[in-house]
Amino acid sequence: MKSFNYFAPTEIVFGCGRVSEIGGLALRFGKKAILVTVPEFPAVAPLYKKIKDKLNEAGVEIIHYDQVIPNPTTEVVGEGAKLARKFGAQLVIGLGGGSSMDTAKAIAVEATHPGTAWDYLHYTAGPSEKTLPIIAIGTTAGTGSQTTPCAVITNTAKKDKSAIWHKNIFPRIAIVDPELTVSMPKSVTAQTGFDAFCHNFEAYLSVNTNPLVEALALDAIKIVVENLPKVFANGGNIEARSKMAWADTLGGLTNASAGVTLPHGLGMQIGGHCPHVTHGQALAAQYPEFTRFTWQSAVEKFAAVGRIFNPALNNEDDKSAAEKSCEAIDNFLKKIDLWIDLKSLDVTKEDIREIADCGQVLGDYKNNPRIATIPEMYDLLMRCYERK
Ligand code: NAD
Repeated sequence: MKSFNYFAPTEIVFGCGRVSEIGGLALRFGKKAILVTVPEFPAVAPLYKKIKDKLNEAGVEIIHYDQVIPNPTTEVVGEGAKLARKFGAQLVIGLGGGSSMDTAKAIAVEATHPGTAWDYLHYTAGPSEKTLPIIAIGTTAGTGSQTTPCAVITNTAKKDKSAIWHKNIFPRIAIVDPELTVSMPKSVTAQTGFDAFCHNFEAYLSVNTNPLVEALALDAIKIVVENLPKVFANGGNIEARSKMAWADTLGGLTNASAGVTLPHGLGMQIGGHCPHVTHGQALAAQYPEFTRFTWQSAVEKFAAVGRIFNPALNNEDDKSAAEKSCEAIDNFLKKIDLWIDLKSLDVTKEDIREIADCGQVLGDYKNNPRIATIPEMYDLLMRCYERK
């Protein structure tokens, strides 16, 4: 066996209703917290109130920064960091989907370091231990951000979506309360749930994977295949929501340890060039071409995953099961209404040229069992442009 490290320092507080413990958990880090969210809307209003009440009861003073947007930008982080500094925040609480949790992480960096969060991206020495402690509370089940050392931010001026990736931004605590995910609309459920599949599948395929990641990822893939269609059909199914919240958390752990591969790398570029495209959409649009590009370089793994989607493939040899896994993943995308192409997402052919040209800026593509050149990335994306 090859050597590997596994590092996962986040305390996971998992279970329905556990968000009520926020007061005591926050107090471990101080009495002044900044709460980071998207602006209030009816589905989340009771949750915001509950969290503020629990923090107040525990004697934690809070300031609420509610200006997060999907695909959060450097400007959004900058405003939040200014507020955190002025308030003297000792703790950052990110409440929401990946966008809110990532903004919270970036604020924890920018509020305590010279320059901006963008100065501490993955290819730099990264933020120091002065970074404020972070509590992440997810309301989607997809990004796994609650257990990753990653904060994705977009620099609109540079058309660049990139990430801080450093051990000092691992949340100290992840509150994974499946009840918070029940209010997700169908489209967000599907997009984020598919992201949870992608983290686990790509970490399983990654050339940097390890036996612990492989075990966790395969388990998570089984959970998503069984439960995402259930929550898509009935968002109130709390047992299936709980399973998805767990698969999402596993996706954070597997991604944190083994990384993700080609679709995530290109997905980041799609988001940087076309910020109206959500992360889950960027992944779904590429997957049919990604699987066909890659399966022959990881036959056993594609066969294993294909058999999870379609148990009838147990009767076929690995090569045949691996090839047919592509169709099985297509069918899954159709089932959750994510059979989409780049054209329908308003990504133009000119955008595709620019996206492909930036395809090797992030290192994710190097984790893929088959490494794509820039012309291959361009071909792959052009094949995703229009789909029947
Ligand atoms: P998101 O946070 O952008 O949220 C999507 C939409 O769903 C928003 O409008 C939000 O208000 C709404 N929403 C969230 N929870 C809801 C709920 N319970 N009920 C009703 N509406 C709800 O979506 P996301 O997919 O969770 O996060 C995407 C971001 O995370 C992207 O920027 C992506 O690049 C990043 N990401 C980060 C990591 C990481 O490890 N840090 C990993 C993958 C992706």
